[in-house]
Amino acid sequence: MAAQPTIPRRCLFIGGGWREPSLGRRLPVVNPATEATIGDIPAATAEDVEIAVAAARDAFSRDGGRHWSRAPGAVRAKFLRAIAAKIKDRKSDLALLETLDSGKPLDETNADMDDVAACFEYYADLAESLDEKQRSPISLPMENFKSHILKEPIGVVGLITPWNYPLLMATWKVAPSLAAGCTAVLKPSELASLTCLELGAICMEVALPPGVLNIITGLGPEAGAPLSSHPHVDKVAFTGSTETGKRIMTAAAQMVKPVSLELGGKSPLIVFDDVDIDKAVEWAMFGVFANAGQVCSATSRLLLHEKIAKQFLDRLVAWAKNIKVSDPLEEGCRLGSVVSEEQYEKIKKFISTARSEGATILCGGARPQHLRRGFFIEPTIITDVSTSMQIWREEVFGPVICVKEFRTESEAVELANDTHYGLAGAVISNDEERCQRISKALHSGIVWINCSQPTFVQAPWGGNKRSGFGRELGEWGLDNYLTIKQVTKYCSDEPW
Ligand code: NAD
Repeated sequence: MAAQPTIPRRCLFIGGGWREPSLGRRLPVVNPATEATIGDIPAATAEDVEIAVAAARDAFSRDGGRHWSRAPGAVRAKFLRAIAAKIKDRKSDLALLETLDSGKPLDETNADMDDVAACFEYYADLAESLDEKQRSPISLPMENFKSHILKEPIGVVGLITPWNYPLLMATWKVAPSLAAGCTAVLKPSELASLTCLELGAICMEVALPPGVLNIITGLGPEAGAPLSSHPHVDKVAFTGSTETGKRIMTAAAQMVKPVSLELGGKSPLIVFDDVDIDKAVEWAMFGVFANAGQVCSATSRLLLHEKIAKQFLDRLVAWAKNIKVSDPLEEGCRLGSVVSEEQYEKIKKFISTARSEGATILCGGARPQHLRRGFFIEPTIITDVSTSMQIWREEVFGPVICVKEFRTESEAVELANDTHYGLAGAVISNDEERCQRISKALHSGIVWINCSQPTFVQAPWGGNKRSGFGRELGEWGLDNYLTIKQVTKYCSDEPW
């Protein structure tokens, strides 16, 4: 097992330095795998938000914005690459902090740190290429007018993020917003803020200009709400639950402020009868048990063709029972704890409601017997589910999959689309034409064929319906933080 590090005691990161929260309050940090309090984080309130937004505004417009928003993309790229290099240097200690804070297995948090560094590097490249794309001509039908567009940074952005991939979800917003020339105030989740605060330390080490990125930790209503409603924040980018997304949208609407929302999901995985069952079972397991199911795109509704359902389920149950659930620092751990006691209780409630509504808990459903402490839940498979049951309709955000059978392709698509959410969907079949048909028929922002969950920084990420709107990652992620200006010139001596 890895050595336990000292948890750094950090303050709010504002204007390039550390600052005590105005009210002097701090929140405990609990390791969900041991239930031990391992440190604390500052609790920002509206006054701190005010100071952080002022610092970001100052950094955005200082010297007419030459420092950051008008600096060549190559200058911004240099800082983003320097941050990536520091993340790589500190990969193992950041991964360990993330594991202690969130309960995720160490293998997963190490992989997350690779993705964090890769994301900063990717947007460094896009920051450079933005210089060429910043100005582009528009062809007009009248010769005496010339027109072009300018792509400009949107301004000061508020970035509010969840706990399931704490530093990675923050990076999906920080890297493109800074690449675009915006300055930012990041508010990570109060349940897992340690690595985001370390990002502040890294910004100091690479001498990121003060105020370009500010990091305030604290509770949603106390720190997130004043950020999302602040009149000097030009855009809010949010990842989190649909309920909070609605609040953020309402607050932003008062200022007619743009928002992008990456919200919850209840994604389907459709498996046909022409597949290699072992391979399909592996994807089904990865699709819902990776990160203990705390994944917005988790394929938590499994649709099985009736001809293979029994064979598939027998294998799925056998393999699920074999998953190593343990302290996330233990070698070979595949399923760590969920993030908090509240989340643990919420998942157990979902399972007990499913049982009382008549579903069958085929395996799992409780804390593994060998673990006395920590917020662990066994991989759970639920059958005899009807489409009106809570377990089929609502996001559990835990290692819980519910299963239904289908007979025909159209029945499968209908079941898959019968949800308020629209983040992701997956289909496994050896029939290529069928897969392409289904990829068009699914009402979601992401479709996986013959797999579930692979995520690439180059490919757009985001949902439809109550899973939100706007796309992160790829060039679309950069566009989130750019605004388009039309510039039209009259270029004739003749009166018009
Ligand atoms: P959450 O909505 O509880 O919290 C998210 C963030 O919002 C936190 O930083 C929180 O402090 C803040 N917040 C809470 N109340 C607020 C308010 N009134 N005003 C402003 N900010 C507020 O979500 P969570 O529990 O941290 O994350 C889990 C949810 O996130 C799940 O629903 C999951 O599906 C979703 N998620 C979506 C994606 C995606 O890409 N679509 C990715 C990861 C997580």
